[in-house]
Parts: sequence; C-alpha cells; structure tokens
Amino acid sequence: MKAELIAVGTEILLGEITDTNTPFIARELANLGIDVYFQSTVGDNPERLKETLKLAARRSDLIILSGGLGPTEDDLTKQTVAKFLNRELIFDKSAMTKIEQYFAETKRTMTENNRLQAMYLKGALPLSNRTGFAVGIFDQEKTGPDFLLLPGPPSELEPMVSEQVIPLLKETYLSDHVLRSRMLRFFGIGESQLTTQLANLIATQSNPTIAPYAKQNEVTLRLTAWSKTNSEAQQGLDECEKQIQAQVGEYFYGYGEHNSLAQVLATKLSSMNQNIAIVEGYTGGLFLSTLNAVKADHNIVSGGIVLGTNERQIQQFVDIKGDFKSRVVTEQLATQVKHETGSDLGIAISQPHIESTSTDDHKGNVWIVIVDRTNTITTKRYEFSTIRPFVKQRVVMSALQAINK
Ligand code: ATP
Ligand code: MG
Repeated sequence: MKAELIAVGTEILLGEITDTNTPFIARELANLGIDVYFQSTVGDNPERLKETLKLAARRSDLIILSGGLGPTEDDLTKQTVAKFLNRELIFDKSAMTKIEQYFAETKRTMTENNRLQAMYLKGALPLSNRTGFAVGIFDQEKTGPDFLLLPGPPSELEPMVSEQVIPLLKETYLSDHVLRSRMLRFFGIGESQLTTQLANLIATQSNPTIAPYAKQNEVTLRLTAWSKTNSEAQQGLDECEKQIQAQVGEYFYGYGEHNSLAQVLATKLSSMNQNIAIVEGYTGGLFLSTLNAVKADHNIVSGGIVLGTNERQIQQFVDIKGDFKSRVVTEQLATQVKHETGSDLGIAISQPHIESTSTDDHKGNVWIVIVDRTNTITTKRYEFSTIRPFVKQRVVMSALQAINK
C-alpha cells in the first residue's frame, strides 16, 4: 500500500501559508502503518495538477489531495480530478440542503460556485463536512489508484480525517488486520544520532514500522505493527523494541504519547511515596515549575529554593560559604536542602560557570547534584553553550533523567 499526498494551493507555493495538512495526514497514515512514498505541492492550476495526477497515478495506490474544494474561481481540484478520471460530478443532496439553508438563514444570494461545494464524483463516497461546506470525496477505482479529496482549511480537514477518513481507511485497507502501536521516548540523544544508530533496523524493518520524531529536546519512536491477531502484533512490537533497547536503551525513559520525562519521574516518586527538595541556580525555578506542572498522586516536591546571582544575599538563605559555582558548594546545597526539608531526595543545580569569553559562543558548565535516601551523592557536570536554544530546559531534563535512573 503506497500512498501519495498532494497539497493544492498557490499560496503554499508562494510561501504565504505553511502546509500543515500534509504533515498532519502523513502522521495519521504512519499511525495506521500506511506508507507515504511521495508528497508534492502544486498551485491552483489545472494543467499542472493534471501532470501531478498522471505521475502519482503511475506510482501510488492511494492519492490524497487537499485544498481547492471551495467555491472560488481558483478551486479546481474536484473538476480536474473528475476530468482526469473521465467521471461525472453529481450533487450530494444533504450537503446541498445545508448550503441552501445557510444562504437562506443569512439572507445571502447563493452563487453557482457554492453549489459546486456539494458535488462529488459519481460512484464515489461523499464525506460530510462538519465544520464547513465542501464535501470530501473517497473514490475507489476498479483499475488504478484510489483517490481521496479533502478540503484545504485545517479546521475542516482535520475533523474529517479523524472522524471519517481514518475509520474508512482502516475498513478499506486494513480490515483483516489489527494494528497496534507503541511510542518509545528518549532523552539525551539527538534525532540524527538515534536514527544513525538504528539505521539498519529502520531500513530493514517493515512490520513493525519505526517512525522517529524529534520534539523539543527529545526524540520519540513510534512502532506500528499490524497482524492477524493482537498477540501477534504485540509480539512483533516486543521483538522490535528489544532490538531498539539493545542499541539505544540508555537514553530511553518511558512510553506513551503524552508521557514527559517529568511525568515519568513524578509517577515513579509517587508510587514509591517519595518526595524531593531542590536548590536551583542556573535554571531559576524551571525545575520546580516543570515538576509542579505534572500529575502526581501526592505532593512530590517538598521544598525549593531559587538562587539569584548575588552571593551575599544567597548566604542569608542558605548557610554555606564559598563559590556558588563550585562542585563542593553544590553538593553541600543538595545535602542541606534534603536535610532541612526532611525529604527523601535533595537536588541542587549550581550557578553557571562560564569558561571562555573569547568568542560569542560562551561555553560553560553547571553541576547537577542528587543526594539520595542513603545520602549517596551523585554529581554530574553539564556542559553547555549559551548560543544553543532551550539550554535551561535541557539542564532541567538532564537533572530529571539523572534522578530517574
Ligand atoms: P475554501 O472552501 O476555504 O476555499 P478549499 O478546500 O478550496 O477551501 P483552499 O482554497 O485551497 O481550500 O484553501 C483555503 C484555505 O485553507 C487557505 O487559504 C489556507 O488558509 C487553508 N489551507 C489550504 N491548504 C492548506 C494546507 N495544505 N495547509 C494548511 N492550510 C491550508
Ligand atoms: Mg478555496
């Protein structure tokens, strides 16, 4: 099953709007285990759209077009596809009624073009548009590829895909299969490094498929398996995950779509009935707010101190003398905050120490210290470059991961 996506719209070619429909549809198809081999963009031009359709029809089984189903002069997708397939366009009665009602209610005059929005290819399946007027179209050809036409506005396309297209694709192409997917989450490794390390596996693996996504400061892998039975699919996922864990397991931190590193840690601390206290220098409260934002069964943060840069003022709060950028002081801070709050874990993130100011690329380091229940001190040195984005988030995530281990 090879799918191909075509975004229609001159505004996209001109860079006036960003095509979000293509990545949206691509992700949804990946979740279903349907391969997308080509994506293209074409302007509102019937000749060039016809050229694009010709090429797509030679190489793909399912061609999905978005845009150009509307009432304006430049909306020509439907007519062009009808001509290309040598098919008639007919009215969808309920869509027509909805348009007529709208014009009656708003006391506006309906034009011929508005009627066009209710038309679909004879013999195809019209898809109702809950948030707009133009019907979508799903057409299964006896010979040649299938076609799916979707409206351009994401507010219309996205609900149509979620509510109608996905069930339809499952039923049409995957009905004798069960589909299972699993999301693996990684931190501390970049997407390119991860995919390089897994290059062989990703290239040779077709069921389950492995789809990497890079998010801010982390990478996820979605494994999608399809099979005759649930247990077979799960077994496929297990085996594939085992191979992945063998290669990049040290960066793995959890499963699931919305399971952040902070959430994984909070769940773990909750289940062990443990709490933590923190002293933050460089991250200025970001660690605390990150942990506070996640769900936990009980209050896992027992206390926190955010340090500014004025050492004399800091010393009024914490009874420590010395260089607040140093390893020794950071370790003392973690120990002190643990004891004074009676917490299970004490964490400290030091003030930044900038090592070089000779170039614009300021390199520095911060210390991340964890004192555990047995008072064992684990210290990590985090090196950073101030020109890298989200560096404070990275430090927070590094600390979360270090505690999680
Ligand atoms: P309409 O009924 O609004 O005319 P349409 O199906 O004819 O819908 P287009 O005319 O191609 O779609 O696009 C309408 C609007 O939808 C665009 O101006 C843009 O805001 C949005 N849009 C279209 N295609 C995309 C896309 N690929 N990604 C994101 N937004 C899009
Ligand atoms: Mg339009």
